[in-house]
Amino acid sequence: MVEDYRQPRTWILGVATAIAAILALVVLPHRGAAWNFIFLVTCLFSLVVLFGTSLSAPRAARGVWWSMFAFQLLTMGALAMFEWEASTGRGGFPSLDDLIYVVAYLPAFIGLGLLIHRRYPGHDREAWIDASILTVTAISIFGLFLIAPITASPDLDNFSTVVALAYPLLDLALLATLIWLLVGTGQPTAALTLLAVSVALTLSADIFRDLALVDDPAAGPAWWISVLRAAAIAAMALAAASPSAATIANPRGDRAVRATTPRLALLAVGVLAVPAIVAARLWTETAGPTLLLALAAIIVIILAVWRIQILVSTVQQQRRVTELVLDSAGDGIVGLDREGFVLFANLAARRMLLCRESDLVGRRFHDVAHHELPDGTPYPWLECPVSSLVTSGEEAFLTDQRYIRRDGTAFPVEIVMSPLVIEGVVTGAVQSFRDVSERQEMDEIKRQFVAVVSHELRTPLTSIKGSLQMLNAGITGPLNDDQQELVSMAVANSDRLGKLVNDILDLERLDSGRMPLEPAVVNAGDLIDQAIAGISGAAGAAGIRLVAELPADRGDLDVHVDPHRLHQVLTNLLGNAIKFSERNSEIRATATAEDDAVRIAIADRGRGIPEDRLATVFDRFGQVEGGDARREGGTGLGLAIAREIVERSGGTISVESTLGQGSTFTVTLPIADETDPAGPTVEAVPEGAAT
Ligand code: ADP
Repeated sequence: MVEDYRQPRTWILGVATAIAAILALVVLPHRGAAWNFIFLVTCLFSLVVLFGTSLSAPRAARGVWWSMFAFQLLTMGALAMFEWEASTGRGGFPSLDDLIYVVAYLPAFIGLGLLIHRRYPGHDREAWIDASILTVTAISIFGLFLIAPITASPDLDNFSTVVALAYPLLDLALLATLIWLLVGTGQPTAALTLLAVSVALTLSADIFRDLALVDDPAAGPAWWISVLRAAAIAAMALAAASPSAATIANPRGDRAVRATTPRLALLAVGVLAVPAIVAARLWTETAGPTLLLALAAIIVIILAVWRIQILVSTVQQQRRVTELVLDSAGDGIVGLDREGFVLFANLAARRMLLCRESDLVGRRFHDVAHHELPDGTPYPWLECPVSSLVTSGEEAFLTDQRYIRRDGTAFPVEIVMSPLVIEGVVTGAVQSFRDVSERQEMDEIKRQFVAVVSHELRTPLTSIKGSLQMLNAGITGPLNDDQQELVSMAVANSDRLGKLVNDILDLERLDSGRMPLEPAVVNAGDLIDQAIAGISGAAGAAGIRLVAELPADRGDLDVHVDPHRLHQVLTNLLGNAIKFSERNSEIRATATAEDDAVRIAIADRGRGIPEDRLATVFDRFGQVEGGDARREGGTGLGLAIAREIVERSGGTISVESTLGQGSTFTVTLPIADETDPAGPTVEAVPEGAAT
């Protein structure tokens, strides 16, 4: 486990020793006894640290460190062999030390290759282009200053030429690999930087040695080449001892910013280097029109680079304006690419998440602020709805989400996702989110207030109703006509008030989840029969006929719902149909089996609902006419409760109506799965069930 990995306490000691050693190597007289001693200590220290890290590093990094250990060991072996050959007079070129040195490249390639393979995220056009520019430049420089002179050198025989060529060619390949590692694999950690520095120092030492060989194949290396080698060895030791050594091969968790100033400067140098070399070459060899053309090419390239720089700064200015606009918005606004990595995050987003820009930009938003579910379990990116939205290019409104701040606390959010479309291609999405904790708190206070008030009303209301009913029934003595009328009105209104209080409490319980549905397998036909039986008294009083049209075989009508709540829904629909129908009309209740649902329809031939009100009758207090509730004794909440119950049961409710001709309310309910272990088949509604 990476988290459990603890680097030995060599880090601080290592830095101090390496700095002291390098200083000492530079200051001390070359090849003095003290110099040799410090060089040897540096080599041994490096090998010990590399060995220790290779043994203790996590699996992913182990291969890299073992390769670097082998690389260092072989390089040092080659240096020792060179010394031995020099001291015993067996020197010369090429000799055994050259062979060992050439073999040492192999583990270096393996180590860097492993690093690129593990850290590289995949397709990255910009990295390819940048690496190609720099590699072509390197090839030109190597070709001109090293490879060409070696092939032209009269002092080297064929075999020596091959060995002499092996060095610059291998160095070139190593340099190309190093360039790829640096431009293609994200923000480097301390360990990766030091490792790259070490390889770069080794390369520099090699290149200077190659250059010296071109001049004089028999000459030994200059003193400062040894200093470069010692520094390379020390840097490798520091890389292995640094705390980030354990994570060196981890896939990069960020997305590198591709247009940093140093990177652009390096690319500009790369772009200019080739024509500059051509011009320099022509300057020394020939003059005339070709040279002029080469100079013209340089001027054109400089002007083009300048032009691009102006373009870049204009774009940056526009970006600044956009940033200011985004920062002035109150909602958090975050741009995501197709893999969910943050392209930008406005001020409000950073404030809400307590993040700095660098905590967000270049990292996957989900990993920073959305990585856990409310119960604390991990929330994998692929299960997050945002994951599919960033690629599909759909718009969406997400509720019930929670973001996590940098300090670990969480807050509820509502998110609007909009696709980020550039030239017709979906390149990601913009999400704007709002902290809804205050609103949720207010809603909760409101809900509690309504619940408490309704609850407190119920008890006195029951006693008022009881007293009025006794008065109305004449138990306390006969009433004259006027008194009777007043008391009857009071009874009717207290009934209505009681219904309203019950409906408000029902809705509140549904909203707060305190009315859990208890689904069981019930027959929709039986449900209809029982609802009709329950309301037939009211229908009779209103002079309305209730007809149930049910198939002879009711076997297909089993549904998986809470029978009490469905009874409540059907009673409400039938009650409405009765209320809004004329005397002598008929109400039909049907149930039909469909593929995976049962459709129940309640059709009346009453007054109908105007088209523009069809959508709102299911809203709370969504009455068609202002006086409906008062006139017909309704509350305006029945259909809202019905919709809530049906939707929570996995069904749908809708209405079709023609004004003056009648309305049909349709409820579809999920059929009971035969293999459904949810519950036993029950009688539709037990005796005396509340409606
Ligand atoms: P209410 O308690 O007022 O009936 P509902 O939520 O059940 O409340 O119904 C909302 C409104 O929808 C009613 O007030 C009425 O205006 C309209 N409505 C409901 N059912 C019918 C129907 N069958 N015919 C005509 N209008 C209806």
